[in-house]
Amino acid sequence: MNMRMPVLFVGHGNPMNAIEHNEFRAAWSALGSRLPKPQSILCVSAHWKTRNGYVTATDTPETIHDFFGFPKALFDVRYPAPGDPALAKRVAALITSERIRLDPGRGLDHGAWSVLIAMYPAADIPVVQLSMDTSQPGRHHYDLARQLAPLRDENVLLFASGNIVHNLPLFSFHDSKPQAWAQHCDEELRQLIAGRRHDALIDYPGRDAEARLAVPTPEHYLPLLYALALQESDESAEMFNTRVVGSISMSSVLIGGPPQG
Ligand code: ZN
Repeated sequence: MNMRMPVLFVGHGNPMNAIEHNEFRAAWSALGSRLPKPQSILCVSAHWKTRNGYVTATDTPETIHDFFGFPKALFDVRYPAPGDPALAKRVAALITSERIRLDPGRGLDHGAWSVLIAMYPAADIPVVQLSMDTSQPGRHHYDLARQLAPLRDENVLLFASGNIVHNLPLFSFHDSKPQAWAQHCDEELRQLIAGRRHDALIDYPGRDAEARLAVPTPEHYLPLLYALALQESDESAEMFNTRVVGSISMSSVLIGGPPQG
């Protein structure tokens, strides 16, 4: 019997989660053990924005350290998972609504590796990344992601990485207390996800002032739509890491996962 692979949206937050031992990383690690082992991973990350769509197509993706001001230990991290050029071509062929180009040079950004290093520390599962054209509205991303549904029957894990509430200008490393508006938006978004209000989520943040604080720019929010687009009518959304750190929500969603043991 062919099993349908789960779909995952993970709030990645601070890149230090890659090397710190905390509750978020612990949940990622537990998830790696609990999910059926995929043949390959297709990642959509907040940290690969392009004009038009691209997919990584190298055998050996480099680890990209796309941040500043962090300890050397974080820059020393390598995640040497192989690429999967055949999957890259499959992705480009599945998406017919626009032309997806192969990028033979691009590696893995921290939206991908900071989480995968905890989920799959052996780095033995090939990883491909699909970029996002963030000049396009939510509906574009949702419709594009729908076309990736067949991959779930081909043992590919769709892994979207962002943060549903993400406001860096309002973030402070010295105060992790949830900001009231961030907590409120996180709860509102989780209710919309639990209620399958995909149309409302596609249109988020709209004109609401608090929601626009939660999503001041689209790149960390849009990955959520890639995961939701693949939710079938018989699948529920399991939420985990539902915590707000200052102005960032770590809330994450597992769709079609195995029962919790
Ligand atoms: Zn990020």
